Amino acid sequence: MTRLVMKFGGTSMADLERIRRAARIVAAEVKAGKQVAVVVSAMAGKTNELVAWTDGVGAAAAGLPLSDDEYDVVVASGEQVTAGLLALTLRNMGLNAESVMGWQVPITTDEAHARARIESVGSERLDEILGAGGVAVVPGFQGVTPGGRITTLGRGGSDTSAVAVAAALDCPCDIYTDVDGVYTTDPRIVPKARKLGRVSYEEMLEMASLGAKVLQTRSVELAMAKRVPVRVLSSFVEPDDNGNLPAEAGTLICDEEEIVEKRIVSGVTMSRDEARITLLGLSDRTDAPADVFTRLAEANVNVDMIVQSQARSEGAVNLTFTTGRRDAQRAADLMQAAQKEIQFEEIRIDADVAKVSVIGVGMRSHAGVAQTMFKALADKGIKFQAISTSEIKISVLIEDAYAELAVRALHSAYGLEAV
Ligand code: ADP
Ligand code: ASP
Ligand code: MG
Repeated sequence: MTRLVMKFGGTSMADLERIRRAARIVAAEVKAGKQVAVVVSAMAGKTNELVAWTDGVGAAAAGLPLSDDEYDVVVASGEQVTAGLLALTLRNMGLNAESVMGWQVPITTDEAHARARIESVGSERLDEILGAGGVAVVPGFQGVTPGGRITTLGRGGSDTSAVAVAAALDCPCDIYTDVDGVYTTDPRIVPKARKLGRVSYEEMLEMASLGAKVLQTRSVELAMAKRVPVRVLSSFVEPDDNGNLPAEAGTLICDEEEIVEKRIVSGVTMSRDEARITLLGLSDRTDAPADVFTRLAEANVNVDMIVQSQARSEGAVNLTFTTGRRDAQRAADLMQAAQKEIQFEEIRIDADVAKVSVIGVGMRSHAGVAQTMFKALADKGIKFQAISTSEIKISVLIEDAYAELAVRALHSAYGLEAV
């Protein structure tokens, strides 16, 4: 019998009516003869509320690391509620459903609380439930350490739970959300964005890590590593009168070879998650950049873009780099504390920046992609402060106020609009 993992996000679990609709979609797959495991998010807004409560009791204010293990005990609870509610709803529809918490599956993770990585997923309990004709409902986002403490997988982590469960059950994964697929860019920013029928794992990985929040980056990483076929589709659908779902819906994330229509650029993304740090008047010693980046690496600060330019004073350079916004102050403090050893005159930190990127596997074999990007931005008078590229993406750092304008300009410059 074919198996399927179905994941419902926060908006799709937002209230009891939406939970009932999700249950009808699950029932349709069961009726179609599939053995189903469902992974659910907390109700929309719930995780934010729980995080705010942990702030409220002073976890962050007291200077405790955010990775405190009790933080996870609190924020993991939102998914326990929706898992139970969905299982109850399915039972009331006559299905044999049972919730299985993260620690019961078990979804074992490392000990990095608040951003844990999955190490293994036990399939025994899920096999039992599915084998007996039942539906297993698993709360997303939750894991457990080998020592038995509850962990969470980072914001948006239910996508990763779903793909991990699908990998363990060796089956595809359908991600039901509030859009009906992956678009050329966020349809909330560009209403004329086009739905992509298929996207390669590589492109989706870049899109997710560069700001398309439709899938958590780690979920795509995992899907690519384990070759799990992932579909993104809308939970705002109703099975027809016979209880059947519409065929061929959504976006399939798959191997590049399975995509017939080749595009040069598949997507445009934006991320406001960055901050720019500049060391002015840095000593022009050959080992100065190594000194700076070693200190950052040792403190586990990820650096993305790097630009070095000539400073006004002789024998000195200006070194600019970007980090995640969350890490910026810590990175700046580190630099400040070592100012004498590193030898720089002044440090500036600027969070009013955004990273805008274009992504497409076609870039590997086509010239002129960068030129189109720079021209489109120049035409709108948008200056860029740093650039980074990989084989299939180009990113530029710009002033935050221009981010949406830049996304629209690029989306149109590459002819991505729906006709
Ligand atoms: P869920 O709660 O189901 O996990 P998310 O809010 O995490 O849903 O992700 C879905 C949202 O991702 C959409 O509402 C959309 O605004 C946003 N999004 C950003 N970029 C894209 C894109 N390229 N394609 C589709 N959706 C996108
Ligand atoms: N509820 C968690 C969050 O809001 C996990 C998820 O929805 O994927 O981040
Ligand atoms: Mg999400």
